[in-house]
Amino acid sequence: MHKLQPKKIFIEKDVVNSPVTRQILDKLPDITVEYIDDYRSIKVDGRTTDDVFKKSKECLAIAGKKGELVKQFRCRDGIVGDTEYFISHGNNCSFDCDYCFLQCYFDNAVPTVFVNHDEMLDDIKDVLLAAGDKKIVFHAGELCDAMAFDDLTGLSCKLIPLFSEYPNARLELRTKTTTVENLLNIKAADNIVVSWTFSPQVIVDTHEHKTPSLEQRIRAAEDVQAAGYNVGICLDPIILCDDWFDHYKTMLEILFERLNIEMVKFISLGGFRYLSSLTRVIRERDPQTNLLLGEFVPCVDGKYRYFRPTRAEAYKEIGKVIRELAKDVKISLCMETPEVWNSVKDVLR
Ligand code: SF4
Repeated sequence: MHKLQPKKIFIEKDVVNSPVTRQILDKLPDITVEYIDDYRSIKVDGRTTDDVFKKSKECLAIAGKKGELVKQFRCRDGIVGDTEYFISHGNNCSFDCDYCFLQCYFDNAVPTVFVNHDEMLDDIKDVLLAAGDKKIVFHAGELCDAMAFDDLTGLSCKLIPLFSEYPNARLELRTKTTTVENLLNIKAADNIVVSWTFSPQVIVDTHEHKTPSLEQRIRAAEDVQAAGYNVGICLDPIILCDDWFDHYKTMLEILFERLNIEMVKFISLGGFRYLSSLTRVIRERDPQTNLLLGEFVPCVDGKYRYFRPTRAEAYKEIGKVIRELAKDVKISLCMETPEVWNSVKDVLR
């Protein structure tokens, strides 16, 4: 099992005595600690951009979140999607995916956990109560892997009992981790979906550094399903590497053989996309990268995506494989334009 072992911890002075901070420190004895005023001003030195990122990801910051703990997420005009909410429980994560948009999103790349859990739960409750009987979806994996620090913070042990009281709400915990012990020890609720980003092992090896292997992720998903949870399958980002179709087909066959499809709530497909600001970081970190090879075009939301016919073809081919393996599972596209949805809807429905 993957366990986070940071080399150094930054702790904001204001949260030194927080129960969650004490709990994390109990689990990481003898670690070097630096006390700081504000997580946003952490600076990590390094010879190169890549060095700064690598060193940053060896640290952990414990902080109190400034600003909103629950944020509304709206797709930009021209991109299909519903208004949903995400829980801001941390920034960055200890993994190091080449394509991660967070590399150009925050002031630093140090994985940071927010320990003002009581405030976070109160804010979530406010949104849940305001929603009344309406269906409402929360995510906990937008700006930080949802489970990467769960063995340290125990946040899932607070979120799951809370959401189990609000059956009209759904909480999606999106992850690449195997740190799922807390989930196995608390009662599953029907409105919790633990979703894994699954990538063919060749993509994991090339672009998802420090992450659990495909096999480890599948085993974690099997364990979580056996404990009674619904699971989601995210193929996002789909990267069109050499022989991409064979790699994705083989992976899907393994997933469908190993997972209980009755308990798979959805499969979501999303092609690799990026803002132009990310290209500088990707190229600086690895001038030889093949991630940006291919024909990318700017889209209505300012992100670059594979040329439209190329990605529509990829969704269709992957969709056909899924439909051959499972007739009824819900398939959706992540952050796509209406034109692409329309061109693939016959295969995906
Ligand atoms: S697991 Fe997610 S948050 Fe972490 S580096 Fe990879 S893409 Fe970024």
